[in-house]
Amino acid sequence: MNENLAIDRLIRELKPVFGGFPDMRTGRNIQYEIADAGMGAFSVFFTQCASFLEYQGEMKRLKGRSNAENLFGMSEIPSDSHIRSLLDPVAPMYLHPIYRLVLERLEAGGILETFRSHAHSLLVALDGTEYFSSQKIHCEQCSHRQLANGKTDYYHSVITPVIVQAGNEHVLSLEPEFIVPQDGQEKQDCEIEASKRWLRTHGAYYAQQNVTLLGDDLYSRQPFCQAVKDAKMHFILVCKEDSHAQLYQSVAFLDAQGVLGRYQKRHWNGIHGEIHTYRYANCLPLRGDQDAMQVNWVELTIAHEETGELLYQNAWITDFEVSETTLEAIVRDGRARWKVENENNNILKTKGYHLEHNFGHGSQFLASLLLSLNLLAFLFHTVMGLVDEKYQLLRKELRKRRKFFQHVETLLEYLLFDSWDSLFSFMCRGLNLDTS
Ligand SMILES: [Zn+2]
Repeated sequence: MNENLAIDRLIRELKPVFGGFPDMRTGRNIQYEIADAGMGAFSVFFTQCASFLEYQGEMKRLKGRSNAENLFGMSEIPSDSHIRSLLDPVAPMYLHPIYRLVLERLEAGGILETFRSHAHSLLVALDGTEYFSSQKIHCEQCSHRQLANGKTDYYHSVITPVIVQAGNEHVLSLEPEFIVPQDGQEKQDCEIEASKRWLRTHGAYYAQQNVTLLGDDLYSRQPFCQAVKDAKMHFILVCKEDSHAQLYQSVAFLDAQGVLGRYQKRHWNGIHGEIHTYRYANCLPLRGDQDAMQVNWVELTIAHEETGELLYQNAWITDFEVSETTLEAIVRDGRARWKVENENNNILKTKGYHLEHNFGHGSQFLASLLLSLNLLAFLFHTVMGLVDEKYQLLRKELRKRRKFFQHVETLLEYLLFDSWDSLFSFMCRGLNLDTS
């Protein structure tokens, strides 16, 4: 067990970060109050229990002490309305140091190394996801769109960058970038603009880690590719024919000349044979004008060996040289992009992270700050999945994520624990799991 990544320690280290949130009021003891407000919101997401604070208030009345104090270091248990009013003015960027702290600990513990992919690179998948929409409630940070019935729909969306790796069930959340209306811009903010902003804010830091960005077809345009190169990162981006006419004309031309790269390999998928056909070329113009940048292109087609049925087809552009020795690794990495949708955004939406929890929407930053706290809770769960042996044993034994958190919820309602480690030890003992 890596002590620097122990969950009790990580949670303790949140407190000074929350304590450093700006407070718009004046008076005494404000630092404690705002740290409690941050921890209160985080605790609901971390325990996956919407009523956690209410239960702990009750425990405090009955026993004189609560798990909110013991496990989250809260001084006082804040009410939902207190959390709402204290956190609304806090911009989510105040949480950025925690993402980096976790990443640096994972690096120091040798765990980040195990996430490396082609060319020893870390794959960072970018994807936009909508996490709020309403025709009634809105705030300064809402985007909006006109509906067919003439009404206005207000919504929030966010870019959630995650480190992914083919064949790795874990994904590591990095600082999100919120898609919000920008000052002085007529056009509403969009996913690509927000992703470029993420690169400007965080690019220099992550470039030191040797990063390859993954994105869908929306990203494989020259301005974004140029921004990636300017940030000294690599890219593997989905590149569809209907949105890249010029590039595919070059592919067709090379194919007609008989000089398009081609490589074939048979795979056994456990049931039947598959024929994997790669087509590739280097140094193709990304678009039709004089200033087009040169990119490398690779396509994978998978067909059923006996029936010839088309099972899969996709293509990517990249700045890595594509050759017979690199193409399988590049395609494998490009295909890992779906994990940002399946293993990050869908978990956040469907697996009890209370993305639309009833702390309310706020009028300034509340909605986006809560989203970022939620991502941190998810990241902390991932860290436990990577380093905490008791948590690993329990999750394996209880199988379903939901079941694990239901047990935690009930235990924390009835019993007082002095640390997360003692809670997990108690659960392991109860289930006869060997933790020696
Ligand atoms: Zn809003």
